[in-house]
Amino acid sequence: MSHRISEQEMPLWYALEMNHEKEETIFDKILRREIPANVVYEDNQTFAFLDINPVNPGHVLVIPKNPSRNILDIDEKNWLALMGTVRKLARAVKEAMGADGINIDINNEPAAGQIIFYTHIHIVPRFAGDAHIIRPHKNYAEGEANKVAEKIKSRLAS
Ligand code: 5GP
Repeated sequence: MSHRISEQEMPLWYALEMNHEKEETIFDKILRREIPANVVYEDNQTFAFLDINPVNPGHVLVIPKNPSRNILDIDEKNWLALMGTVRKLARAVKEAMGADGINIDINNEPAAGQIIFYTHIHIVPRFAGDAHIIRPHKNYAEGEANKVAEKIKSRLAS
């Protein structure tokens, strides 16, 4: 009997080796216009549409046309194209919605809240006092921050 591994059980190395074209997501279908979405922007490399369940009205999702799972496997060229579109749309969304600020969010892997496994960036218009809590914060123990920074720096060097 075959056991289909769930996203929660999936180790990161396995997730990164998955072939994205085989793992069809709802965003693949939106991109091919097979299911409807309120598309707000499109160019050669990127595509943007309204989130169906917005944090606030005007919440936009920006995706690359070339599929990837998330920031852990997207290549630099597609990432830079995505960032260009995010910047453009952040300004447009803020002005269109009369927002006071904008959050740019990206959830990578289930532990970080990713539910659709196709790279997407959230552009969320924010209003003073809208009371959406971003994330609770922790404190570092004495000396811990230095150790953590060193760990990350040695990864970058390897
Ligand atoms: P994630 O947690 O993966 O970063 O967020 C996925 C987002 O996709 C959610 O905010 C959810 O509301 C949005 N979403 C899920 N299904 C659909 C859909 O069919 N159409 C649109 N426009 N957005 C969707």
